[in-house]
This record gives sequence, structure tokens and C-alpha cells, in this order.
Amino acid sequence: RDTPAGEIWMDGEFLPFGDAAVHVLTHTLHYGLGAFEGLRVYDGELGPAIFRLRDHTDRLFDSAHILGLELPFTREALMDAQAALVRRNGLRAGYLRPLVFLGDEKRGLDPTGARVHVSIACWPWGAYLGEGAMERGIRVKVSSLARHHVNVQMCRSKSVSTYANSILASREVRADGYDEALLLDTEGFVAEGAGENLFIVRRGVLYEPDVTSALDGITRRTVIELAREEGWQVASRRLTRDEVYIADEAFFTGTAAEVTPIVEIDRRRIGSGTPGPFTRRLQQRYHACVHGEEAGHREWLTPVR
Ligand code: PMP
Repeated sequence: RDTPAGEIWMDGEFLPFGDAAVHVLTHTLHYGLGAFEGLRVYDGELGPAIFRLRDHTDRLFDSAHILGLELPFTREALMDAQAALVRRNGLRAGYLRPLVFLGDEKRGLDPTGARVHVSIACWPWGAYLGEGAMERGIRVKVSSLARHHVNVQMCRSKSVSTYANSILASREVRADGYDEALLLDTEGFVAEGAGENLFIVRRGVLYEPDVTSALDGITRRTVIELAREEGWQVASRRLTRDEVYIADEAFFTGTAAEVTPIVEIDRRRIGSGTPGPFTRRLQQRYHACVHGEEAGHREWLTPVR
């Protein structure tokens, strides 16, 4: 059990950790209609600061809009609440988790009349894919489960229910000794990791799969911007699994995973089998940006004090 600590913001109030509870008939618990975000707080040049708060908050509103849920708060109110929670909890570095869910007022599928709740929690969180993953890289396996078709789960929404698919895929490959799952879409093209976007490098060009069946990741957008600043060519297109096998480099991006090198997929070594120079450079730049060390990208940071 993760240690309970600090306060949780819920529906406009800061509550002691143990008081932020819901009823067992919570609609989202039964049927999965809900949305969430994941943000990181970094302790850097500006003191503790939230990375890309506005972009994550905008995506939360987009997710809710796609699901037909109207948030009873403004963007500004939720941004203020996130910063205030981090400050009140004295969190210097870690993770923030805003969640939008439906209350317990309705029993059947139709949620009309159920209250839309918003909660925000935060906690300290280290390397998502394990200590050492950033330096050595990880081993990945393609899951036997496909990523959602766009007409099954609308992937522009970071929906709660998407993650049953992620958990099944991730548990499947972890049981076989791999670090993380790569999912293909229903047509067999590469989609994304269980909780990350994928990039590959081939002959000096950075490629990412079309984000049709994948989340439009904010780390992904950051990495694309940094790569363009480096003067590298970046292309988005359909990618096949074997194109990934023959890449010179591959890496995952995500708020939790940051820039994690991939050194093996389906028992094929990727490139030299160690994190390559493009990946290393992006890791360095990302690390510098999130810690406020790049003057040109301080607008991505919201200091919390
Ligand atoms: N895809 C999935 C399925 C994810 O859960 C995440 C993590 N939010 C990502 C991609 C990466 O998104 P971001 O960079 O915005 O964290």
C-alpha cells in the first residue's frame, strides 16, 4: 500500500488524505466513464515547478469534452488548485493526478443527473520504469492485445477506461520478464506503449507513429519541439513492427517515463543495444527543460511558490 500523506483536493476543497473518499456506487467505478491527467513536479532553478500545467489542464478539458462531461470548474481554478496542492503538501518533486469522475447518483448506464466530480492528488514518484532504465534502457515486447480502434475508445481523450487495455498489455509482457509493452493498432501498425508514446531513429530521422490510436502525449510534443530545435528531421507516419526492429534507436516518452531508451524489442537488439546519441541528447535537453535550466523554455514551468 502506498503511504497515505498530505491533502487531496476534491470538488473545491482541500481534504485530509483519508477523507477524500467516494461511495461504492460511484458511476465511474462501474462503467469507466472518466478522464484523468498525469503531471510531474520538478525541483529546479525556479524551485518546485509543474511542467506544462496549462497543456495538461487543456487536455483534461478536451478529454472531458470528448466524453460529454462538463467540468464544474474553470481551467484557471484547476491550475490554481494543482499548484496550491503541491505547495500545501510541501511536495518538491513528484507527480500530480487530476481525475474527473461521475458520482453515485445514477445506477444504470445513462449518467444523466450524476454529478461530475474533480479530484487532485499528488505524491513523490521516482523513475517510472525502474531505476537504471534511463541509463541502460529497457526491454520491450509487443503485446498480443491490440490498442483501441478509434471507434472503440476515442484516443484523444485520456480516459480512465483506456487503461484496462494498458494494464492487461503491461502485465502480460512483464510476466514474461520484459519492462514494458508496445501495442499495435487493430490493423497491425505500431500505436504506443502501455503508458508512453514511441519514437524511433533511422538514418538520422526521428519517426513517430501516427497518433491515431495513441494519446497525443505532451512529452511527445516537447520532444518533437526539441528535436526541431536541434535541426533534426521529424516525421509522423504509419510504422510497422519490423521498422522498429531495424531502427538505429528507439525510445518511449511520457510524463512518468520521461525519455526512456529502448534497447531491445521482441528479443531483437535495437541499434547497438545501448542508448544512442539522439536519445541521449533528447534526454539531456528534456532534463534541462524540466529543471528550468533552459531559459528559452521556462514558459513550460509553473513555479508553485
Ligand atoms: N500514451 C499513453 C497511453 C499514456 O498513458 C501516456 C502518459 N500520459 C502517454 C502516451 C504519454 O503522454 P504524456 O507525455 O502526455 O504523459
